[in-house]
Amino acid sequence: MTFAYADMPLDRCTNQRKNKSWLKTEFNNDNTLFCVINDGMGLFATNGIIAPIYLTKGQLPTLSVDSCIYLGKGDIALSQAEITDTNAATHIESNKAVSIFTVDFNKLRFSTQEELTEIGQWQPLKAMTPNLSPADASILALAKGMVHWHISHQFCGLCGNHSRAVEAGHARRCNDCRNMSFPRTDPAVIMLVEKMFADGIPRCLLGRQASWEKGVYSTLAGFVDPGESLEQAVIREVAEESGIVVENPKYCSSQPWPFPASIMLGFTAVAKTDAIDVTHDALEDAQWFSREQLSNFGVKSEVGEQNNEVEFKISSSSSISAYLIKAWKNKEIGQY
Ligand SMILES: [Zn+2]
Repeated sequence: MTFAYADMPLDRCTNQRKNKSWLKTEFNNDNTLFCVINDGMGLFATNGIIAPIYLTKGQLPTLSVDSCIYLGKGDIALSQAEITDTNAATHIESNKAVSIFTVDFNKLRFSTQEELTEIGQWQPLKAMTPNLSPADASILALAKGMVHWHISHQFCGLCGNHSRAVEAGHARRCNDCRNMSFPRTDPAVIMLVEKMFADGIPRCLLGRQASWEKGVYSTLAGFVDPGESLEQAVIREVAEESGIVVENPKYCSSQPWPFPASIMLGFTAVAKTDAIDVTHDALEDAQWFSREQLSNFGVKSEVGEQNNEVEFKISSSSSISAYLIKAWKNKEIGQY
């Protein structure tokens, strides 16, 4: 099973990117492409095909390597629609092993910012994901996550002075005390809780937040606390959100979730109790659903059009939440 954002086609070149002369060579290579992130949003083509716009160095003439973050290098098949610099596109077509950098829109000159806004539209990654190739979605997720980290970590966590990007944008060093900091990923557990009921029917536990579209239910999820194992986090979060006591958490799979900086770690767990209580945490409602009920669920629209013909819905098929629910329905995961 491949989830959105988990199909990275680029080699991150972790060892090479620390070498400044290697990095500069990649930066100045005519084939190199740039992905700009503006307030968490990506730049997308609007000429019929929905695809991210990768820019060439020629389109970003005043850019410096120090303001960019290296994402990686790979044999990626970019469609012509994704490259708006026609001359460069012909050149790139003959050699697809390209390096890709990302840069924060706010680091560009005003004139460049204006030009970019004319060639495409800024759109949030999550809304565009259903239309993107797995490779593009993964590249943009990395770009969005890295740019967000730099914006939110401009000051040293130890002494409070300014820090600056080093190591191709994959670390920051304090200008004063030299403390190094590295990009964060916040672990969150997401779990399919199941129980065999006295009537012989197994059911799973799904909940919803009040802010979600009407009828949308999802697996429970929550952040891992410091000093806590993933299994302990599963047990604690389910109890906090639903009042249900679970045991035997089993890891399934994971999904990068750059909204803004998480990884979702998917589990199954078996419930020992069945009386739901959502009065102590963020859920508006939680319910037990049988496989028969799940087969009547609709899919939540990702583009704002609400599907009001079904009572219950789950989120898009590329999320780990949807995977856990479907895999349990199909008896691919879980005990029952
Ligand atoms: Zn410091």
